[in-house]
Amino acid sequence: MYEIVVVGCGVIGLTTAVAIQGKFKKTCKVTIFTEKLSPHTTSDVAAGIWCPYLYQDTNMKNIVKWSKATYDYLINLWREGHADEAGICLQPLTMVFSNEGHEQPDWLNVPFGTQPLSTEHLETINKQHKKNFKTGIHFITISAEPLKLLPFLQKRFIQNGGAIKMKKIINFNELSNYDVIVNCTGLYSKILAKDDQVVPARGQLVRVKAQWNFQTFLHEDGDGAVIVNYDSTVLGGTCQVNDTNENPSDSDTRMILKKCYELVPAIQKAPLLDITVGLRPVRTRIRVEMETIKVDNKVLRIVHNYGHGGGGITLSYGCALEATELIKGILEDILKHKL
Ligand SMILES: Cc1cc2nc3c(=O)[nH]c(=O)nc-3n(C[C@H](O)[C@H](O)[C@H](O)COP(=O)(O)OP(=O)(O)OC[C@H]3O[C@@H](n4cnc5c(N)ncnc54)[C@H](O)[C@@H]3O)c2cc1C
Repeated sequence: MYEIVVVGCGVIGLTTAVAIQGKFKKTCKVTIFTEKLSPHTTSDVAAGIWCPYLYQDTNMKNIVKWSKATYDYLINLWREGHADEAGICLQPLTMVFSNEGHEQPDWLNVPFGTQPLSTEHLETINKQHKKNFKTGIHFITISAEPLKLLPFLQKRFIQNGGAIKMKKIINFNELSNYDVIVNCTGLYSKILAKDDQVVPARGQLVRVKAQWNFQTFLHEDGDGAVIVNYDSTVLGGTCQVNDTNENPSDSDTRMILKKCYELVPAIQKAPLLDITVGLRPVRTRIRVEMETIKVDNKVLRIVHNYGHGGGGITLSYGCALEATELIKGILEDILKHKL
């Protein structure tokens, strides 16, 4: 039996741990080491909408591959009847743009029913919202509310024989007994993996009660986001690079409410439930990569999976599968050297 350790129990750590169990049912034992669990991770703050965001210079082919694998995974959970427990809502999404000639990213080919908004539809929206949006797009997406998705994945991981240990890892050397170390520590990879390319991007969200709202509405230029969750609607948001203040700010709340009330005026009557803040782990490129480190004649085999920026939920399962393929290569290599 190979011993695999996953460091981190946010959405990336959990999807990776579950994917490893699925791929190597009989040959691997998986343990998670983590400092924090749901509901105390950055992932728990996310609005959970499937929509790639803040992936910086990550290759578009990878964004398409990883986001598609996650879309399919979440839709399958929904189809299999897990939507209630995992907090998955299938829903229409409208995204509007203030500028004409906006380049359409390739990932728009992933979701069902992507189509540009017709001139008539756009005119109606502009009239209703007293705006001057120039173009828009519509597709079917999913929100996977992390506050429900993470406990669901955690339960699956334990049922599959996984173990979770509460411990902050300061140095990978501490895990030298394991055959493979999988690093899913998000923002903390800046320190653990000594990676200066990782930076925080602060995000504040406001949750309201609007159980009559079944439509997610995004302003692509960041001027407001109204996102349907399981039993609340999430209003966003901010994106403040290198701001590490984890407390809600009143001025941000006022700004979020103003933008979102303009975007969907009906929301003005919805009671406020909660205000939350999280630090997105942004990196120049999302890192799903193998690294070997030599410590006292021992080789540590590390698979990194971090830096998912504003799209960790959207890309999670696809990146988990990619990490699993890297682990497969490592295990084959270990076996070759044993023979
Ligand atoms: C306001 C906001 C809204 C967002 N909305 C969306 C959205 O709608 N859709 C979307 O796709 N994405 C969204 N995101 C992005 C998403 O939340 C992140 O990309 C994702 O949470 C990153 O997951 P992660 O598992 O890498 O990190 P985390 O959730 O931070 O998990 C890291 C884990 O590692 C553990 N850890 C860290 N250091 C150590 C250590 N030294 N030893 C042991 N354990 C350690 C932590 O305790 C934690 O368990 C949003 C983010 C924010 C802040």
